[in-house]
Amino acid sequence: MTEDKQRLLDERYMRMAKIWAENSYCIRRKVGALIVKDKMIISDGYNGTPSGFENVCEDENNETKPYVLHAEANAITKVACSHNSSMGATMYVTTSPCIECAKLIIQAGIKRVVYSQKYRRTDGASLLVRAGIEVCYIEIDETEE
Ligand SMILES: [Zn+2]
Repeated sequence: MTEDKQRLLDERYMRMAKIWAENSYCIRRKVGALIVKDKMIISDGYNGTPSGFENVCEDENNETKPYVLHAEANAITKVACSHNSSMGATMYVTTSPCIECAKLIIQAGIKRVVYSQKYRRTDGASLLVRAGIEVCYIEIDETEE
């Protein structure tokens, strides 16, 4: 695939991840993630509480509840419940992964991570790079929303 074609695909998947983030009922931050393998979306996720829990992410002090799963963790665990494998896949995530999710991404065999929003901490992205994962930042056109 040419670089231009890859870039176009990356932007489209990222826009989809961003739309997917709208599913999140979290108020403080909505994050969406897609796992793509061989041009197929094999999983998706957004940040939220585990299955069966109330659809509220923040406690009475507006702090995120400790059991809220990040979009990346939800997408990876969804693959674990399916017949797919994330080995060699690409993850599109709207916000740069945190260190906890970076560990999961490494162990899930994901080879490429594309994100569009920089997170205040960069230790997650650094860990991915250290594990030999290709990390790409792409800006998506906000006016297309
Ligand atoms: Zn995370």
